[in-house]
Amino acid sequence: MDLVEFQGKQLFGRNGVPVPPTGTVCRTVDEIVAAAEQHLADGHGAVVVKAQVKTGGRGKAGGVKLASSVEEAREHAGSILGLDIKGHTVNVVYVEPASDIVEEYYLSVMHDRVGKGHLVICSREGGVDIEEVNRTNPDAVVKRTLTPTETAAGLSPDTAAEIVAAADLPAEVRAAAADLLVALFAAYRAEDATLAEINPLIRRPDDSVIALDAKVTLDGNAAFRHDGYAEWQIAGLEANSPLEAEAQEKGIQYVKLDGNVGVLGNGAGLVMATLDVVAQHGGRAADFLDVGGGASADAMAESLALVLKDPDVKSVFVNIFGGITRGEEVANGIIESTNRLGEFPQKLVVRLDGTNADEGRRLLDEAALPNVISAATMDEAASKAVALAAQA
Ligand code: GDP
Ligand code: MN
Repeated sequence: MDLVEFQGKQLFGRNGVPVPPTGTVCRTVDEIVAAAEQHLADGHGAVVVKAQVKTGGRGKAGGVKLASSVEEAREHAGSILGLDIKGHTVNVVYVEPASDIVEEYYLSVMHDRVGKGHLVICSREGGVDIEEVNRTNPDAVVKRTLTPTETAAGLSPDTAAEIVAAADLPAEVRAAAADLLVALFAAYRAEDATLAEINPLIRRPDDSVIALDAKVTLDGNAAFRHDGYAEWQIAGLEANSPLEAEAQEKGIQYVKLDGNVGVLGNGAGLVMATLDVVAQHGGRAADFLDVGGGASADAMAESLALVLKDPDVKSVFVNIFGGITRGEEVANGIIESTNRLGEFPQKLVVRLDGTNADEGRRLLDEAALPNVISAATMDEAASKAVALAAQA
């Protein structure tokens, strides 16, 4: 689950990572104006009006603006609310007392699958696209994968100090930056994050360092340890993907992808193989859906309904291997669920194999469902599904 900036800062703040003075979450121009008025009256010289969307590069897109008067804040409110930033509409705005910046650095912790550990990245060149810095000036980006021992013990002050020194942060801020990194790593672990990124980490005129921006991703698999992350679900913020959210609610294993062939199978291994076969036939999967071992009529109906609801899905490849669940049960599940769903435009290409597959295929043929096409092999099914999606 991705948090927006103000939520990331809230999470940082409660874990001892220094952040700017607390701002105000707003949804209308009037709220933004009132918040600016309040912060200015509290003695802050300026406020920053920031779009809260789950994407980066807000500054470049006009979604981050400084205001030193209420009138200016009103102008920015009008231009930022409703703004489209890389396909994300701005419904929520954060108005924060502005910080004075001396320098901008980069600091992050993330789960690194390849390195099999937690990766800390630190750079003196922050506030800009870190991937770009990594390409043009890789020496300026320090990457350090923590060993399991370091992870278990928590990031030690010595290791943190080593990292900020290696990144060549100025001597005046090193101690503060190392303290902040220790707190950041502890926050990342305690909150079950897979990413905690600060870009920029800023140096203020008094040489203190704070997180001016926050990008946090929480591990969905750890939601049960945090009341389902209910505290982060607030009005006006987009879900990661509405279909993924619905699937999660129903306990369906579903991942939205960017192609046009719906992929539904039983067992994660089979579904992954199905994605590969679709790709081999020149297609792209629109999703990954594992109906699980049973593939009962109920599970099938719920799963199919979810896949068919996605406007990107132009055809569906149903790939089922009968094991304990026999072929005829699977066939009945498909028949019953398509009957329940009524009319829908997409064709389902069904490949059924395993226990009593012949019996299952016979049932499907007899039912002669208008939307269902049978295929004998995975290859044949993939080629049909990809062709149907291309025609649609
Ligand atoms: P992003 O563009 O989505 O990464 O949004 P950021 O929160 O990182 O803001 C982009 C840039 O706006 C920062 O790198 C800063 O240069 C500037 N900025 C953001 N907040 C402030 C602030 O409080 N004071 C000043 N002076 N500049 C800010
Ligand atoms: Mn940023």
